[in-house]
Amino acid sequence: FDRVVVVGAGLAGVRSAEELRRAGFEGEIVLLGDEAHLPYDRPPLSKDVIRGERDETTLRPREFFDEQRIDLRLGAAARSVDTAARTVCLTDGTDVGYDELIIATGLRPRRIPGTAELAGVHVLRSRDDSRALRAAIAPGARALVVGAGFIGCEVAASLRARDVDVVLLEPQPTPLASVLGPEVGSLVARLHTAEGVDVRAGVGLTELRGAGRVTSAVLDDGTEIEVDLVVLGIGSVPVTEWLDGSGIELDNGVVCDAVGRTSASHVWAVGDVASWQLPDGGRKRVEHWTNAGEQASVLAKALVTGEADRVAQVPYFWSDQYEIKIQGLGAVAPGDTVHIVRDDGRKFLAYYERDGRLVGVVGGGMPAQVMKNRMKVAAGVPIEELLAATA
Ligand code: FAD
Repeated sequence: FDRVVVVGAGLAGVRSAEELRRAGFEGEIVLLGDEAHLPYDRPPLSKDVIRGERDETTLRPREFFDEQRIDLRLGAAARSVDTAARTVCLTDGTDVGYDELIIATGLRPRRIPGTAELAGVHVLRSRDDSRALRAAIAPGARALVVGAGFIGCEVAASLRARDVDVVLLEPQPTPLASVLGPEVGSLVARLHTAEGVDVRAGVGLTELRGAGRVTSAVLDDGTEIEVDLVVLGIGSVPVTEWLDGSGIELDNGVVCDAVGRTSASHVWAVGDVASWQLPDGGRKRVEHWTNAGEQASVLAKALVTGEADRVAQVPYFWSDQYEIKIQGLGAVAPGDTVHIVRDDGRKFLAYYERDGRLVGVVGGGMPAQVMKNRMKVAAGVPIEELLAATA
C-alpha cells in the first residue's frame, strides 16, 4: 500500500502517523484534523492551562511533520467514508483516497440539552474550550462543576487555585465512584473538601436557570444555588456520526480487534474513539492518554509488518488534583474489592482485588509505591500475600 489517511489529528492520530514511520512505512501519510491548531496535548487543558500557568500544549512543531513527510491538513473535517471506493469525503466537498484508513476522531463532551445557548456554561475537551473557561474565571466567582469524574475533579482543583468558590456535584455516592469505586472516591472527596470545595455527592442537577446567562442551578434535593459559572463534566461520546452508513461496525465507538482492525477491510481505529478487543475476549474503549500511544504503536506495527503485538497488559492512567498525583495501574473496576493499605489523610494507596487476586493499584501522591506494583498486577498475585507483606 502507498497511502495511509489518518482522520483526527489528536494524540492517537499523531502517534499513529509517527509510529507508521517508525515501523518503516515510506509511503504517503495524510493526517486530517478538523481543528485549526497544530495538534496539541489535552491533559494540561484541565490543569496548568486553567490555572493560568501554561498556554502552549502543542505536541510537535510544524517542522516535525514536514521532516517526517506527514501531510498535515488542518481545518479538514471528514464528513463520510466510502469503504468500497476507499475515499474519505471532506466537508468542503473534496475527496481524499486511501489504501489504508485510520480513524482517530476521539470524543466530544456530553452536554445538557438546552444549555448550549446559555452563556457561562462550559464543557472541556478542546484547547478553545479550555481558553474560554480560563477567560471566564474571576476571583471570588461562584462555580458549579457538574460531575466529579476525572475532568470535573481536576477542574474543581484548578478553579480553587484561582480562588473560585466551587460546588462539585455528583449523583454517585462519591467523586470518581464509577471508575475507582466509592472507597477511593471518598478519599478523593476528602481531599477536595479540605481544599474548600463544597462536595455534594449523591445529588444530581435538575435544571440550570438564567435569561441568556446562567445565574442559578436547581439541584435534585430541591436546593437552588446561585452561580456565575458552570462546568459540565458529565462524560463524553465517541465522534462516529460521520461513519454512519459506512458499514463500519459501531457500538459505543468503533468496534476493533486486538490490533485496531475494524469490520471493514483497510480501515483501522485507535485512541478514545476505538473499542478494542481485550485478551479475555471482551471489548473496551479506554479514555486515557497512555493507551492512545500504546494502541498507535501496536496498530502501526500490525499495518506495516503484519505482526500482532498486544497493548500493555497493565494499563496506566494519572490525574493531577492539587499537589496530589492520582495514579492507577491495571484495569480497575468499581465492582472490585478495594483494600486501602496506606492513608495519611491526604496521600493514599489502594489495592484492587478480583477473585482473590490483585488486579490494580491506585495511589494518591505515592508514585513509587504505585509503580513498583506493575509486575504484581501483571502476575495477578494473590491478595493475601500482598496484604500480609504490608501488614
Ligand atoms: P482526541 O485527543 O480527542 O483527538 C481527536 C481529534 O480528532 C480532535 O482534534 C478532533 O477535533 C478531531 N476530529 C474529530 N472528528 C473529526 C473529523 N470528522 N474530521 C477530522 N478531525 C476530526 N488522560 C490521562 O491519562 N491523564 C490525564 O490527566 C488526562 N487529562 C485530560 C484532560 C482533558 C481536559 C481531556 C479532554 C482529556 C484528558 N485525558 C487524560 C485523556 C487524553 O487526553 C485522551 O485519552 C487523548 O486525548 C485521546 O486522544 P485521541 O487522539 O484518541 O482523541
